[in-house]
Amino acid sequence: MRLRFAPSPTGNLHIGTLRAALFNWLYAKANGGTFVLRIEDTDLERSDAQYETNIVDGLDWLGLTIDEGPTQGGDYGSYRQSERIKAGVYDEKAKKLLASGHAYYCFLTPEDIEKEKASAIKKGIPYVHSRRSSDMSEEDVNDALASGKPYAIRFKMMSDREITFKDLVRGDISFDCSLLSDFVLVKSDGTPSYNFAVVVDDAAMAITHVIRGEDHISNMPRQLAIYEALSLQAPQFGHLPMILGPDKSKLSKRHGATAITEYRDRGFLSEAFLNYLALLGWSPTGEQEILSPDELIKQFSLDRVHKSGAVFDVQKLTWMNGQYLRKLSVDVLYSLVMRYVSADFSQIMQGYDLKKQHLAVAAIQDNLDVLSDAMSYLEVFFERDSAYLDLVKDQAFTADQCLVLKTFLELLEQSDADSMDDYNALLDAVCKKLDLGKGKVFKPIRLALTGRGSGPNIGALLAFFEDDVISKRLGDCLD
Ligand code: GLU
Repeated sequence: MRLRFAPSPTGNLHIGTLRAALFNWLYAKANGGTFVLRIEDTDLERSDAQYETNIVDGLDWLGLTIDEGPTQGGDYGSYRQSERIKAGVYDEKAKKLLASGHAYYCFLTPEDIEKEKASAIKKGIPYVHSRRSSDMSEEDVNDALASGKPYAIRFKMMSDREITFKDLVRGDISFDCSLLSDFVLVKSDGTPSYNFAVVVDDAAMAITHVIRGEDHISNMPRQLAIYEALSLQAPQFGHLPMILGPDKSKLSKRHGATAITEYRDRGFLSEAFLNYLALLGWSPTGEQEILSPDELIKQFSLDRVHKSGAVFDVQKLTWMNGQYLRKLSVDVLYSLVMRYVSADFSQIMQGYDLKKQHLAVAAIQDNLDVLSDAMSYLEVFFERDSAYLDLVKDQAFTADQCLVLKTFLELLEQSDADSMDDYNALLDAVCKKLDLGKGKVFKPIRLALTGRGSGPNIGALLAFFEDDVISKRLGDCLD
């Protein structure tokens, strides 16, 4: 089995395109197949090498390994359509279609076509291209070509036919070709159209299965007609449901759908991102939603792809990322976190011994959903005294709260607490002595120690700060 991912490098890699890449990759891996990257850069004006780099970076980040492609090479190169144009790959097939009568030179100008469309609208009938140029004599065509008249090469659609194919996701789909215009194979600038290039290349690269977004279903009759006219074996096709924003309209920039690399930069883990993406339009066999790449490969099949649109829910993605962060060892989490804090903050942190730094990172592990939030959670541990004093100066403590602080300080003095467990035991002892619930005890201690009403685990905070700092901060609040 040979599958391909065929992005157009006219923009950064985004969710919809990446989901298509992932499903092709999973299907290839699930079946021991080959995953090909083909860069569809026929639109020379809009294509840009920087987008190709962004696309490749995104695939790389998620570990979607490419077996054949522009960098990897392979037996079916070149893997960039701009290079294939230069090699004459499409010209050769266009000539073949002209010779067999499946295609013709069309000399209609854009204005001519506009007129045809306007007239159809006036008559209230659907517009179908008139194929006027196809009636020209060979002599007239040669004259027009010789005079340098601009032309496109159009495919002559078999208008008396119905074209049917079996979609791997949606089953049989049919099209009435009488409603379809003759479409452009080669544009007036000599470059191939998407429909033409994609067929020539999928066939030339021996692609067996094409998985892509359902916005391409409408292209199927055109592509299948070209396969037939060139006597080429068509691959099997499966079309994926659209990805929608929370308002159920097609996912777009408006929904904050940014470049994939931005998710990386915001501190999503690639495994979590890949896991979430796999669930956009596909469900696993069991209840379990958290699945490693290997588990996804094992479970992936096209019959569990949905037919209806999939909503991209950043909250769920964020939740899933949090689940992955909770599973990391403190060592690994620490090294990841250090990549996401500012250089200044990292320097301040490194002024503490490693054990303390780990303690702080472990304390925020349950709070953290994306790595870029780490610094704001860690601040409480590593901030300057002046920042703490600024926060605590507005806190007022009731008599009951003062009693909690006092009791805690007394017990602290008598203890040699060192670990988080020790401090938790101390807190329990305060609860018991004053016959108070945890909330009533933790709150004033947290407020006095950090100047904040919420934050990381209180036992971790106490274990982090030296006893003399704790005593000073809590004691000052009693004055
Ligand atoms: N270059 C096309 C796109 O990005 C490929 C579509 C296809 O998979 O055929 O939409």
